[in-house]
Amino acid sequence: MLTDEQIIQRKVRCSALPRVLRCPASLAQSRDIVIGSGSADAQRGTHVHHALALHVAGKDVPFAGMEDDVRMLYYMALQIWKDYSDSLVLLDPPETGMSGDLNGTTITGTPDLIAQIPAETPTLVVWDWKTGTGSIGDYLDQLLGYAWLAQKKHPEYKTCKIIVAWVRDRAVEILDVDDAVMTDWEKRLKWALAHPEAYRPSEHACRYCGSVECEARAAYMRGAASALMKVEGGLVPADLAKLYPQSKALAKALRQYDAALRIALAQGPLDIGNGKVISLAAQPRKSVGVEKGLPALKASLPGVDLEPCLSIKTGELKKLISGTAAQGQKGKEIERVMGELEAAGAVETKTSEVISVRRKEKADGG
Ligand code: SF4
Repeated sequence: MLTDEQIIQRKVRCSALPRVLRCPASLAQSRDIVIGSGSADAQRGTHVHHALALHVAGKDVPFAGMEDDVRMLYYMALQIWKDYSDSLVLLDPPETGMSGDLNGTTITGTPDLIAQIPAETPTLVVWDWKTGTGSIGDYLDQLLGYAWLAQKKHPEYKTCKIIVAWVRDRAVEILDVDDAVMTDWEKRLKWALAHPEAYRPSEHACRYCGSVECEARAAYMRGAASALMKVEGGLVPADLAKLYPQSKALAKALRQYDAALRIALAQGPLDIGNGKVISLAAQPRKSVGVEKGLPALKASLPGVDLEPCLSIKTGELKKLISGTAAQGQKGKEIERVMGELEAAGAVETKTSEVISVRRKEKADGG
């Protein structure tokens, strides 16, 4: 009898292929995170895809009622579609789900469009809308999965193209999918499916993996941390370049840690030992809007051209004023100029929450 883990391995969505081909062991993870999913950008992309699917299917999609960003992306996508729609004939309704068997594993996927370019030797086309930014390399294994499924469903086509429409750039990228490319993809996927024990942690694979207690990933992060410790000893540029992917993985882990810590600190200070606590403290930061403050700034700093700047931090501004003020008058001059800028409404205060360390008694008010 198949274990639960094996049952999961029996079905793989094309959207999971970029991760699975990078790290076959991730196939056994129960959560499936699609590249770019969950964010506001992804939701916007889903709305745009939905509208495009209706439009391509010949349905009326009114602009009214769309959110501004969705309407803008939809409009840009329509400009691309205008250039290509006459040369394509749809073979299936937009967003038709497909599946195929590869050595006992079901590969499933829902490409945006499957069409043909009519000609003496017609070409099969897999069309993919991309409403975000990125590189085709991030999605290539997913797109080849769609091409593989489309070729299985429409085996009469001898040539195949993947067309990726980058909506924000109003540009398309076209890939010819020949037998060599497809054979290599199939070979790599068969190997991955046959080796669920192969862990290949990397920044790219792990960020789309649902595994939170993966020892291979933990070892990768430990390795990254110890490699970065060597920077102090002076690494040559080639070594620094090799550390780049690992440094990104660590930086992301630290950002996640910082976000989790801030949520915990929102409930109150936390003891970090040695008689100290950490807590969140509001820190106001002032800046001067150059446009509103220009008359006062020009009069007080005649030799400094601040016009190209939108704003300047007050710390920087105070340094400039100190540099021009007479000896013994710096404090007074700063006070005077800042007063004028305040009166002009040019000083803006933003408050951010910083994490501060204090002695426990102080935090307790002792
Ligand atoms: S966390 Fe990373 S190494 Fe572990 S299974 Fe997932 S992708 Fe592979």
